[in-house]
Amino acid sequence: MTSQTSVSRINVMKPWLGETETAAVSEVIASGWVAQGPKTAAFERAFAEHQKAQYAVATSNCTTALQLALIVAGVKTGDDVVVPSFSFIATANAPTYLGARPVFADVEELTGNVTAKTVAAVLTDKTTAIIVVDQGGMPLDLRPLRNLCDERGIAMVEDAACGAGSTYRGAPVGVGADVSAWSFHPRKLLTTGEGGMLTTNNEQWANRARRLREHAMDVSAAERHGSTLAPQESYGEVGYNFRMTDLQAAVGLVQLGKLDAMVQRRRELAGRYREAFQGIAGLRCVRDPEHGTSNFQSFWVEVLPDFPMSREQLLEKLATDEISARRGIMAAHQQPAYAGHSGQISSLPVTERLTANTLILPIYHELAEHEQDRVIASVLNAGGE
Ligand SMILES: *Cc1c(COP(=O)(O)O)cnc(C)c1O
Repeated sequence: MTSQTSVSRINVMKPWLGETETAAVSEVIASGWVAQGPKTAAFERAFAEHQKAQYAVATSNCTTALQLALIVAGVKTGDDVVVPSFSFIATANAPTYLGARPVFADVEELTGNVTAKTVAAVLTDKTTAIIVVDQGGMPLDLRPLRNLCDERGIAMVEDAACGAGSTYRGAPVGVGADVSAWSFHPRKLLTTGEGGMLTTNNEQWANRARRLREHAMDVSAAERHGSTLAPQESYGEVGYNFRMTDLQAAVGLVQLGKLDAMVQRRRELAGRYREAFQGIAGLRCVRDPEHGTSNFQSFWVEVLPDFPMSREQLLEKLATDEISARRGIMAAHQQPAYAGHSGQISSLPVTERLTANTLILPIYHELAEHEQDRVIASVLNAGGE
């Protein structure tokens, strides 16, 4: 296919990185301390303050933060942990690593998140924790779930991988859970390349997570560095190497300072999409629920039966117009990794509908309005306008 004017492809996502991040990394390299050290500690303090958490523990990624969160919350081999199937597969993998069984709960259609009702339907007498997700940055309705967990003595872990900058009832998401996990993968808003964070208000849990991510050593590298005659360390349990590097943390500090601007820009772009698609029959756009505000980490639309094209056809149409879109959130229970898995004890109709019929449109900080207009034109054209 040849065209007169070549159009550049629009990506579904692009991190917002620049010279400030480059300078911050250079400074760390010049300092000679590139592994977990003072920058990581500074990033933890800044992140805890921004997210209104008492403690923050940086990790290598969100998946390892989730694993640590479940460990400190007391999840053991043989336990049941309720998770949404409608999530990136890491949510289900975290309990699996511990020998616990992920039990899949369905989600509600507006936010793509679990509710007290869908979770209550799958609780067993072995359930010791639930992982709730703010899917695509959409805040979950935490209070009814909090009540359910408190009544049953179940720990609530929040997979807030996509949630930095989203709010629930006026506060940052994550504060209402017992322990929360965050991702700094470039697919999210704030990025450190790879990276994650655990936040909690429980001092003992934070201290244990801090040791576990560093081989369960009782003397940190920073403490050893600070002394000439290093104290003798000991290892109280089997730990992990889930550390973040100071190279990453330096980038994270710069990115954290840009987070509010990122959220504001994404909300503007999401508003433009919603307005443009208002009149199209058969297209349902994600929007803020009554209980909070989204950072629009993802902007997804559901292709309903009265839209002139199927979801796959719309993806093809966008690709022809040099626009990268993506199928919506996956369903873990449909993956070979969980085939024949005993955790799926109920049907998941909303999960299956959303995963089959949703798609994610380009949204990122530096998406120009003329580029977004190309996406809008392509979708309107597909919708018969
Ligand atoms: C991205 C993501 C993860 C995994 O994060 P990593 O930092 O890549 O480990 C986990 N859960 C959800 C909901 C995610 O979107």
